[in-house]
Amino acid sequence: MSKSRTIVLIAILTLGAVSAFTQDQGDPTLTEVWKPEPSIIIPGVSSGPPSDAVILFDGTDLSAWQARNGGAPPWEVSDGVLTVLPDTGDIMTKQGFSDVQLHVEWRTPAIVTGEGQDRGNSGIYLMSRYELQVLDSYENRTYSNGQAGSIYKQHIPLVNASRAPGAWQTYDIIFMAPRFRAGGTVPQPATMTVFHNGVLIQNHVALRGTSVFIGEAEYEAHGSKEPLLLQEHDHPVSYRNIWVREL
Ligand code: MG
Repeated sequence: MSKSRTIVLIAILTLGAVSAFTQDQGDPTLTEVWKPEPSIIIPGVSSGPPSDAVILFDGTDLSAWQARNGGAPPWEVSDGVLTVLPDTGDIMTKQGFSDVQLHVEWRTPAIVTGEGQDRGNSGIYLMSRYELQVLDSYENRTYSNGQAGSIYKQHIPLVNASRAPGAWQTYDIIFMAPRFRAGGTVPQPATMTVFHNGVLIQNHVALRGTSVFIGEAEYEAHGSKEPLLLQEHDHPVSYRNIWVREL
């Protein structure tokens, strides 16, 4: 390169640097957002509840729950564990919830009986309507949109992260309630994100409506807060450490 060309190149580079420097001038605090200040909370140990969670079951009692048709919840609490009593019906929280972060630990029976949907079946119904399937899906094939971690008959889990029967498993769920407009339209469907044993299995999927066994799901307008429901499906599935954070 000739000497004059080198000088021109240096001049161009210098001008560029100066203009970039000029662009960086200004007040960086203009883009700082200080309010609201996120609340300071104490995270739980392992999967224990954080300090701002609503505790739904801590192993001691079912005071947060009732039978589906009212009255005392008919399931069994023993040794810090809640277990479905077959043929007694579903249970649901007394409190209603809308958008939530929900943590649930569950365990299907160590003694395996049945197959497909007839093995360790229960379910977590957000707003009493939208089922995240609980099932023994460890070496137990069933329809993919009905296995553990499926949003029943709507969304297949991304992977099968099931542990063996008798082992405790976790669901961490982010659920956003649907919004309804007068006239029955649904401008914003419900969405769910789910981690199964810490693994992402549902990534912000949109629900098509109320979970149904037969036919296509569709929305039916409901209240902005509805109880969380646990399904009794003939099998003695157990639960522990259930907590929720309203969003
Ligand atoms: Mg079920």
